[in-house]
Amino acid sequence: MENNKGFKFSQYACAVLLISSSIALVSYQVVEIDDVASGLLEPARLVVGPVIVCSGFRCEEVNRRVGGVSRSQHLTGQAADIRPQDPSQYPRLVEFLKACEYTDQLLTGSTWLHVSWTPLGTPRHMIRIGYYK
Ligand SMILES: [Zn+2]
Repeated sequence: MENNKGFKFSQYACAVLLISSSIALVSYQVVEIDDVASGLLEPARLVVGPVIVCSGFRCEEVNRRVGGVSRSQHLTGQAADIRPQDPSQYPRLVEFLKACEYTDQLLTGSTWLHVSWTPLGTPRHMIRIGYYK
């Protein structure tokens, strides 16, 4: 896996922590993420600089432990909780994902956000600003 320059890796491991090139794995279950890497996360990184993935693909066990909803898109590797490394870029990240055609669901907090995608379906473009208090 190569992640210091961008979202170049083709598989998305179940990780609770994925910062720059360091990955803390809790499971070796992996899913393909080429669609989102090319269509959503990588373009976002080009706009706001390094993006920290706080939570990406989750296996059932991790999803349960973090209190994820039972049909969470994290379970299929189609969602990520992210924040820009530079906090001042957060508004730009939100604006980028609001406008991005691949955004399925965008739920924002004050410093991080949840974004999902649907590689095989039509994005709902469901935007909830200030969803996380
Ligand atoms: Zn999420």
